[in-house]
Amino acid sequence: MTARVGRHFLQIPGPSSAPDAVLHAMARQTMDHRGPEFGVFAKTLLADLRKVFRTERPVIMYPSSGTGAWEAALVNLFQPGDVVLMAETGQFATLWRELAERLDIKAEFIPGDWRRGVDPGAVAARLKADIKGEIRAVCMVHNETSTGATSRVHDVRKAIDATVHEALLLVDTISGLGSMPYEHDAWGVDVTVAGSQKGLMTPPGLSFNAVSEKALAVARAGGMRRSYWDWQAMLELNATGYFPYTPATNLLYGLRAAVDQILAEGLEAAWARHRRLADAARHATQAWGLEIQCEVPEERSNVLTAVRLPDGHDADALRAAILKNFDVSLGNGLGKIKGKVFRIGHLGDVNEPLLMGTLAAVEMGLKLAGVPHQSGGVDAAMRRLVETAG
Ligand SMILES: *Cc1c(COP(=O)(O)O)cnc(C)c1O
Repeated sequence: MTARVGRHFLQIPGPSSAPDAVLHAMARQTMDHRGPEFGVFAKTLLADLRKVFRTERPVIMYPSSGTGAWEAALVNLFQPGDVVLMAETGQFATLWRELAERLDIKAEFIPGDWRRGVDPGAVAARLKADIKGEIRAVCMVHNETSTGATSRVHDVRKAIDATVHEALLLVDTISGLGSMPYEHDAWGVDVTVAGSQKGLMTPPGLSFNAVSEKALAVARAGGMRRSYWDWQAMLELNATGYFPYTPATNLLYGLRAAVDQILAEGLEAAWARHRRLADAARHATQAWGLEIQCEVPEERSNVLTAVRLPDGHDADALRAAILKNFDVSLGNGLGKIKGKVFRIGHLGDVNEPLLMGTLAAVEMGLKLAGVPHQSGGVDAAMRRLVETAG
């Protein structure tokens, strides 16, 4: 183990690095979670979270990774044998589907090639063919973190509505929330699934469900056997700032600081910053002559860029060289594209110099690892950042 000097760059697309203010906020004594101070603290935090989700309705919080909130959404709404429609955008869509099937929910997959977002037309076509109305919901991933493709959530909602189908819309924006435009209420999402450790810049361990009136009514009348994930029990206590079981108090301190940072910057300003940095990262990639995994330019994610390596070159070897030489962690290829892509995270508490340091490490790594490319990616990114400076 060699001694580290300077700062480690955690540039994977989540967990993202937490701002100092978040880390400091967590380093204080745990509060009595049934005491008066906690009730006020949690009630205010829950209210402010609604601003980040863009909802007027309650947001439910769990002490779990994002996977828990996937499960919570499904068990509150569906029963074994129920049918839901999902779309194969990448590894996270695949994992959510597998989770649904383990709960005996029939998850039908619209096949995909992992190089684009959900096709609203394909969703509409499948719903139109469902004349018996068996499909209970459309479940989609907003920002597919394995491929760097962003799906058009609002267009999917409009496609569902145009078919006059009753399907609910469930959206995983675990890696999109706080970084990319997202509107729980205005887009007519029934359940939004989110997590703390990506755009929300808080260490892993908290997850969220934002729930529409319609979804809540469905849950009250049905869903499957559940206890820990039950929305109703949570909502009743949350109304006064308390929880049915011990909340992850110190993570909540961190989340409080992160939400403060997001609201101080302004949510739209944070979205714009991510858009600008992502644009620079894409210009770098194209100047290197490397291919971006998402083939549809308008669907390229502002949270991460997944870069394909030429055939015969190993993305994991490249990542290992970059980590060893420059102490920069990049995301690996997941599932079907393991070893074929690496992922540059540009989300959360990130600014221009941090992005440029990351891109410089990638360009140096490409040279060290002998990956065929053109130099000038860093220059191209700098040029874009100057052109788009405010
Ligand atoms: C990270 C991520 C998940 C998984 O969340 P965990 O916190 O690892 O359980 C699910 N979906 C998407 C889109 C993600 O980015």
